[in-house]
Amino acid sequence: MELWQQQARESLTCTQTLADRFGLDSDALDRVVARYPMRITPYQLAMIRQADDPLGRQVIPDPLELADDSPLTDPLNEEQLSPVPNLVHRYPHRVLLLVAGSCFSYCRFCTRKRKVGCAQMKITMGEILKGIDYIAGHPEVNEVILSGGDPLTLSDTLLDDILARLSRIPHLQVVRVGSRAPVVLPQRITAGLCALLQRYQPLYFLTHFNHPRELTKETVEACQRLVASGVMVVNQTVLLRGVNDDADTLYRLFHSLFRLQIRPYYLHQMDLTCGTGHFRTRLEEGIAIMAQLRGPLSGLAVPHYIVDLPGGHGKVPVTPDYVQALGDHARLQAADGTLVDYPQR
Ligand SMILES: *Cc1c(COP(=O)(O)O)cnc(C)c1O
Ligand code: SF4
Repeated sequence: MELWQQQARESLTCTQTLADRFGLDSDALDRVVARYPMRITPYQLAMIRQADDPLGRQVIPDPLELADDSPLTDPLNEEQLSPVPNLVHRYPHRVLLLVAGSCFSYCRFCTRKRKVGCAQMKITMGEILKGIDYIAGHPEVNEVILSGGDPLTLSDTLLDDILARLSRIPHLQVVRVGSRAPVVLPQRITAGLCALLQRYQPLYFLTHFNHPRELTKETVEACQRLVASGVMVVNQTVLLRGVNDDADTLYRLFHSLFRLQIRPYYLHQMDLTCGTGHFRTRLEEGIAIMAQLRGPLSGLAVPHYIVDLPGGHGKVPVTPDYVQALGDHARLQAADGTLVDYPQR
């Protein structure tokens, strides 16, 4: 067994241990975990100083998750846009292929909270092969985004097998791999993995840093190994209330990533997923933050601030032009011209 597999196996799933360590109520944690699973890697746990610090908030279950009664468990309408299980085909030339049902750590704000880490999200090799067949049968698809769950929870052997099959599809030109491993289990980014990914270029590695404190010696070195292998590394950040919803924090995060040759790609407005409402900021706040970043930050380090519109209408960049503020609602214009109402908190 590799070191990272050992560490993944030692991840924290016991609420009592967490409660003891941070002085929390284990019964309250259990009620949340009965609905939404918890897992924290040993590395990430060691980085948390207090339950409510920017790192703790991202992974420690919060009773507020159960207080959120949003009706939307699948706000992006992914289930309806799935022609075969675990493949989402929303845009003409690129598809999302979910290849793993679990993650190293469970983010409390996850968009796929409805199923990530749950028994219903066991993904079989048979399903992955059907997804690959679907791509092979659709010549208009030129890019695949491997997601999940976290694709890097798969062994190198399985990952290599999937990438090799994809590379034999002549019309498929680009692969993207989305993974939070560099942030939560940097030991996963082994020399062997980097060599593997390098063989399947052009390959974009989409990682997910949310706070400058996540950039430690270990995570920085993991990113440097990826960058040195020639893989293009880009980052998405979710705008999270109480974690990173201020311009100074995001300035430090984006500038640090930029220095590491990691391009900040997206700043996501929190989706309307049930159980995540306490993380959501108002759109106006995100717009104000972006306006503050624009001057100080290198243009190369400024991400697109986007909303993935409810109902599967797709991602739209949020700039003042796209938003009509209507008190408790904002109206956003989708890429296809549709006007979509967006509730504010
Ligand atoms: C986000 C997403 C993509 C990728 O969109 P980009 O704007 O190219 O990053 C593709 N398919 C689905 C279903 C998505 O949600
Ligand atoms: S790593 Fe990604 S898929 Fe996994 S819980 Fe976090 S946000 Fe969700």
